[in-house]
Amino acid sequence: PTLESVSATSPPPPPPPHFVIVPLPAQGHTIPMVDLARLLAERGARASLLVTPVNAARLRGAADLAVRAELPLEIVEVPFPPSAADAGLPPGVENVDQITDYAHFRPFFDVMRDLAAPLEAYLRALPAPPSCIISDWSNSWTAGVARRAGVPRLFFHGPSCFYSLCDLNAAAHGLQQQADDDRYVVPGMPVRVEVTKDTQPGFLNSPGWEDLRDAAMEAMRTADGAVVNTFLDLEDEFIACYEAALGKPVWTLGPFCLYNRDADAMASRGNTPDVAQSAITTWLDAMDTDSVIYVNFGSLARKVPKYLFEVGHGLEDSGKPFIWVVKVSEVATPEVQEWLSALEARVAARGLVVRGWAPQLAILSHRAVGGFVTHCGWNSMLESIAHGVPVVTWPHFSDQFLNERLAVDVLGVGVPVGVTAPVLLFGDEAMAVTRGDVARAVSKLMDSGEAESDERRRKAKEYGEKARRAMEKGGSSYESLTQLIHSFTLQGAKNAPEQ
Ligand code: UDP
Repeated sequence: PTLESVSATSPPPPPPPHFVIVPLPAQGHTIPMVDLARLLAERGARASLLVTPVNAARLRGAADLAVRAELPLEIVEVPFPPSAADAGLPPGVENVDQITDYAHFRPFFDVMRDLAAPLEAYLRALPAPPSCIISDWSNSWTAGVARRAGVPRLFFHGPSCFYSLCDLNAAAHGLQQQADDDRYVVPGMPVRVEVTKDTQPGFLNSPGWEDLRDAAMEAMRTADGAVVNTFLDLEDEFIACYEAALGKPVWTLGPFCLYNRDADAMASRGNTPDVAQSAITTWLDAMDTDSVIYVNFGSLARKVPKYLFEVGHGLEDSGKPFIWVVKVSEVATPEVQEWLSALEARVAARGLVVRGWAPQLAILSHRAVGGFVTHCGWNSMLESIAHGVPVVTWPHFSDQFLNERLAVDVLGVGVPVGVTAPVLLFGDEAMAVTRGDVARAVSKLMDSGEAESDERRRKAKEYGEKARRAMEKGGSSYESLTQLIHSFTLQGAKNAPEQ
């Protein structure tokens, strides 16, 4: 047959797969899922992100970039559930980082479940069902929607496989519910991991949240697989064990942050930065390579003034150049503002304080940044490792204590500041870290010429190099994404009606 006759009779290629992505509205969850959506779209798949108006407004920068790059990425805006008012949530609160009262957390998660109806309506209105829903682990309400629509569902789990494996194994042995407060060794781990009641794994594990956790665990059990922001060369052993324990495919596609290659992409993550990226870059350009310590405790943790003071004095006493990001809510009173201005005057050109949201990726990717004091949120940790930057670990709550264990004990890229118990989200009078602890840990991390710190830096740079390779053509995460897209393209072709 001639070429023409073959092409006239062969079926048209299947359309690209369509992924509907449903993030949990919290920066540490939304930011990686937006990166994931962009990655999928850049590789030819269609990606639709379901978000509510406040969150859609925050994504405008990312959406504009996608439009300019002609990526098949759409933001699907649905109203925040009207049940929010009856649940006592203040108007306009649509993201976890807007919550200022502990009493609002549980209702927020309850109200989120009412997004099932708009998601279902969106799916029904599509000309053809999507290929797959990828929803946050906590969004268990998507399981019923996917089942009714006959659409496969993957769950996106925010933390490392090391953490998720600890959680699965501890849960399988019923360890998290034990009443005593003894230490225990997490069973089934390839390395020894000892935890206490304060540091043990378990999302949504607080008293009174049992039904939400049970629903999330059940949605995990019925999902078709998991997507994780990590890479093989970082934690292959834990990835393999997690996949075996879960009994379903685990797609490791990260570090997603390395997808953001230019300044605009780096600055458009999460919120609009409260400082011009060029101002930060100019300041960093004047600094020696690997000399600056960057300090930022993520999108949620807030410090009361007396502990903010300990951080500031610790950085001053360390004698190292620093960029310190403080939240606007942390420096709201005249007393704190005055203290901060005095500190800035004393450290002069050696310290840069950012009030508000910082372009974290742009900072971590600058050659002058040689260390990061982090609360060990998985995104921050991975962003640091992906840029070859070792860390001072200062976990505050949730998965952060086990992320610290991974960085310090397994990867050898971290110096602990020395906390053993979690703090409350909105600042805690019981926090136990002093300026001495901060100065000591920062010096230990940053001092060059010391065998230990040089080795830590060498390892971090090696992981950074491996991370970069994982995301390049031929790299493990790149190829894993190729397979993911391919398998849903095939599935779409299989499900297509007979011609
Ligand atoms: N982030 C940022 N600028 C800030 C604070 C945070 O860009 O000033 C980003 C950071 O790069 C990361 C996310 O917000 O992607 C925080 O997620 P993480 O898991 O580290 O911590 P969480 O905020 O969930 O505690």
